[in-house]
Amino acid sequence: MAKILAVDDQEDNLELLSQILEDEDYNVAVARNGKEALEKAGSELPDVILLDINMPEMDGYEVCNRLKQNEKTKDIPVIFLTANTAEQSVVKGLDLGAYDYVTKPFNEKELLARISVMVRIRASEKKMETIAVTDSLTGLYNRRFLYQRFGEEIERARRNATALSCMMIDIDFFKKINDTYGHDVGDFVLKKLADILRTNVRGYDAIVRFGGEEFMVLFPGTTPEQAVEIGKKIRKEVEGCEFKKEEIQLNTSISIGVFGCVGTEVFNDVEKYIKCADEALYAAKNAGRNRVVMYEPK
Ligand code: GH3
Ligand code: MG
Ligand code: MG
Repeated sequence: MAKILAVDDQEDNLELLSQILEDEDYNVAVARNGKEALEKAGSELPDVILLDINMPEMDGYEVCNRLKQNEKTKDIPVIFLTANTAEQSVVKGLDLGAYDYVTKPFNEKELLARISVMVRIRASEKKMETIAVTDSLTGLYNRRFLYQRFGEEIERARRNATALSCMMIDIDFFKKINDTYGHDVGDFVLKKLADILRTNVRGYDAIVRFGGEEFMVLFPGTTPEQAVEIGKKIRKEVEGCEFKKEEIQLNTSISIGVFGCVGTEVFNDVEKYIKCADEALYAAKNAGRNRVVMYEPK
């Protein structure tokens, strides 16, 4: 069910809109001024915003402008719903980034039809956003997402002086699985490993397919020592797992490199995190594979 935020300084307008929208089974939130509109847009993340223009203190144009400047709210479709019928008001509203402009008094059926177009647009944009950060084979996040999220988590860890760790995982002798059983079986192993990772980390941790048979897990609020423990559990589970596809049954193992920092030590640099985890992974491979190694500065 889509959520609509209606913004208007007049109570009777809000009541009418709420009634109409609720009758269509929309989830409705209301705001009575610009400030409240910005707050609710950020906290409720509605699918569409109906925005009045003439309001005291902050008018609808200014609200729209600020919504567009905020990363969280900039993609929410705005429909101006206003008594201003002047051509320059319409142009100004649409130039500010609003998706539509409807004048009051409005035709109820037409307004609902326009809202439903915006709901469809929002849904398809959300779908595109998801596709853009998802690895299609495993359904895990992709590298683009990693850089986005890693940057945010570094900032958060530095601000709150908390820990931040990550691990780089690489399947041992994966090429041999492909060569022996074929690419399809290789793909199956990748998917199954993705499932194992999903069941072993918290919802807040981010699992990323970093490259072909390399995975990265990001652990906010976790020390490197704690991440090593999680890594050991995953390593053991993979070692004991029977990868079964039709008549083929095989075993494999993974190597893991862990790197993390705590509090004020947190690096300001995503690349540095990745490089250190990768170095630890390299050490795990060199030490004989099927093991977890924590990064050690040289
Ligand atoms: P190591 O233990 O040193 O990691 O050896 P390895 O054989 O796992 O490493 P290598 O990097 O030599 O081989 C990785 C292989 O992963 C080569 C590539 O063909 C395969 N690969 C990469 N992406 C995919 C994929 O999406 N599907 C399948 N089936 N194989 C892939
Ligand atoms: Mg490998
Ligand atoms: Mg590799």
